[in-house]
Amino acid sequence: MNLTINNVIAILDAQWFGQHPEACIDSISIDSRSLQNSEHSLFFALIGPNNDAHHYIQELISIGVQHFVVSYIPEACAAKANFLVVKNTLEALQQLAAYYRSLFHFPIIGLTGSNGKTIVKEWLNFLLSPDYNVIRSPKSYNSQVGVPLSVVAINEKHNLGIFEAGISTVNEMDKLEKIIKPNIGVLTNIGSSHDEGFSNLDEKIKEKMQLFNDAEVLIYPKSADIEKYINQNTKAFSWSFKDETADVFVTKKVVSNRETTLEYQFKGKSYELKIPFVDKASIENAVSSLLVLLHFEYEIEVIQSRMEMLFPVQMRLEVKNGINNCSIIDDSYSSDYQSLKIALDVLESQNQYDKKTVILSDIFQSGFPNEQLYAKVAKLIVSNKINRVIGIGETISEFKEQFSNCITFKNTAEFIANFEKLDFSNESILIKGARSFQFEEIVTLLEEKTHETVLEINLNALSYNLNFFKSKLQPKVKIMVMVKAFGYGNGGLEIAKLLEHHKVDYLGVAFADEGISLKNGGIKLPIMVLNPESTSFSAIIQYGLEPEIYSLKGLHAFLKIAKQKNLQHFPIHIKVDTGMHRLGFEENTVDELIATLKGNSTVKVQSILSHMATSDDVNHHDFALSQIRLFDKLSSKIINELGISPIRHILNTSGISNFKEAQFDMVRLGIGLYGVSNDENEQKYLENVGTLKSIISQIRVIPAGDSVGYGRRFMAEKTTKVATIPIGYADGISRSWGNGVGFVTIKEQKAAILGSVCMDMLMVDVNEIDCLEGDDVIIFGESPTVSLMAKKLNTIPYEILTSISQRVKRVFYR
Ligand SMILES: *Cc1c(COP(=O)(O)O)cnc(C)c1O
Repeated sequence: MNLTINNVIAILDAQWFGQHPEACIDSISIDSRSLQNSEHSLFFALIGPNNDAHHYIQELISIGVQHFVVSYIPEACAAKANFLVVKNTLEALQQLAAYYRSLFHFPIIGLTGSNGKTIVKEWLNFLLSPDYNVIRSPKSYNSQVGVPLSVVAINEKHNLGIFEAGISTVNEMDKLEKIIKPNIGVLTNIGSSHDEGFSNLDEKIKEKMQLFNDAEVLIYPKSADIEKYINQNTKAFSWSFKDETADVFVTKKVVSNRETTLEYQFKGKSYELKIPFVDKASIENAVSSLLVLLHFEYEIEVIQSRMEMLFPVQMRLEVKNGINNCSIIDDSYSSDYQSLKIALDVLESQNQYDKKTVILSDIFQSGFPNEQLYAKVAKLIVSNKINRVIGIGETISEFKEQFSNCITFKNTAEFIANFEKLDFSNESILIKGARSFQFEEIVTLLEEKTHETVLEINLNALSYNLNFFKSKLQPKVKIMVMVKAFGYGNGGLEIAKLLEHHKVDYLGVAFADEGISLKNGGIKLPIMVLNPESTSFSAIIQYGLEPEIYSLKGLHAFLKIAKQKNLQHFPIHIKVDTGMHRLGFEENTVDELIATLKGNSTVKVQSILSHMATSDDVNHHDFALSQIRLFDKLSSKIINELGISPIRHILNTSGISNFKEAQFDMVRLGIGLYGVSNDENEQKYLENVGTLKSIISQIRVIPAGDSVGYGRRFMAEKTTKVATIPIGYADGISRSWGNGVGFVTIKEQKAAILGSVCMDMLMVDVNEIDCLEGDDVIIFGESPTVSLMAKKLNTIPYEILTSISQRVKRVFYR
């Protein structure tokens, strides 16, 4: 992109506050964490329901960002940078993108549909890129924000665009259409599933069809419901498995284990096509892709040979644990300039290690001459503070000198031969390569070898849940997030980092060592320790943790150490017992507490708190209210008599939901962050965070009369197909979940557990499920949910989450 501020002022009709409107802009950003070559970036301060990017502006100015599109100028920033003031920053971003799109005149494919958008987009990119310089939406950038960001990445070298559009309710597609302006439309499918944002299926179809208002051709699964919304000027190009009148009628599917042969009729002739997939969704996506190739009038043989090589699309960047204490980001399926930028952003946000390495293959389809391309890549590498680059491929080897610390290898095999010498340890490694380089072999080498069971943590869902609870808070109320017990089993440090980015006010842990490991991991947020043992006071002080003090004995012990160390105003948190009867000063000790603290400057009462026993239980509503009243009384007394103004807090997750009036100055969010609510209605609004996954180790068929597992507790009444899954009670799956009580999910179907859960394995019934050894198994996540498991096991979700053993690898993704 190459625009001057003057251009942008005119396009957005913005009010201008600053100097040098002739300055040039070469990139757009909305993410404060990942601003590169900041000087020429234009930062759009978007305002979400709970997050206002205007708060990051001051920080951004300090790292050299100079140009901002804002809806107001933050007080502290006035006259310190250039501001373009608009009414709505998101609309401004969309407006700029639409203008920018209008500067280009090559064909653009616009994709929408309920499923498969991203996969069809990635496949089309693969199928068409031998002949075109493709610009496509990175990953699943298909939202009101993602689409404009994808479009502004177009440059003059591209000659084909592939963009996806996703919507969740009415009146959204119109905006995306204006930005994408597709000439070729692809509607992948319309799921019949109930969508919250639409009142019925017809409304959903009508809304999605808006993307194709101006399209010359529309590719779609034949259906009258869709056809009534196709414009006169748009050529319909349909496919079907059932309707012979479709333009492409797919008649025959011969399914072998890993491969499908499709027979299709097109313009009165029959053809055959082989694809390396067997599942229904992949077959549909392949047929959508086929029609695009037919529309481009590719020769049948070219279509055959390219489609035979389709591959599973990795939908996201996975962060995995690597060997020698490394962390690796696996993006081993694509290499183009745009997706490199995004992958580097993810590496940046993963600030676990100072040392950063990028393993990079030759880069394809940039459109730029290699000289210029590798200069651009080198610049990107520098601005992301990458310590070393390992280039693999003939071309990148040729341009080695562009990079400051670069080792190159001609091919992947040569890299692997030299693997030991490269000495990977204590660093973050991004692995990014075009498919032909087979970097998955490098991932296998670098990945820590653990068994196949993983707990996947969706960091986006976590952010979403945080914002959901934030939206329930009165203005000015602070938020402490409880990350005790390893983030409720979900992983302490990674979650703490995300929370730090979201600028929560406090973290809470149970024990000092949990806090110490967060501080060692670089967390700067203040951390309250709920249960500090006297033996840990020294460490607490040394690491700048803040103890909760809950008894006179503890207070005296802490004061003694604090005095020895000559501390002044060291922050402590006073817990009062209002009825939970676990920890806390009782009412009759409060006078002595006050007397002890009066005139004492060694410590500072940073906050006063209490904890509720029944915030989740309507049957004990009155008791909960009495706790709140007592808390108000005791804390007021301490505040008045000491003449201090600490933060007061009593609510946990269910308290936030049920006692809006008792938020005081802060709340303590726990289980809700992890996507669990004890209120069924509220549960609907939360997103699932953790998915415990494994795979099928072995499948066998047993005859009627045979048994499964220890004690022969399952007896087959008929011939039964049994799958063995490598997860057991040592991983945290309760034995009570076996013997017909519980189930796992395979291919979106329930598979009942047969017999007893063993230490490291369990067996399930897959009679009705078309599955193979190696297929994914979901132990909990969307289904069964942790809440359902807890209910059937007569416990609470907290126990299930925190029981997942540490031997289960945690994998984080966005
Ligand atoms: C664990 C804990 C919380 C959070 O409780 P949730 O029910 O998970 O929200 C809050 N305060 C204290 C003192 C806790 O121990």
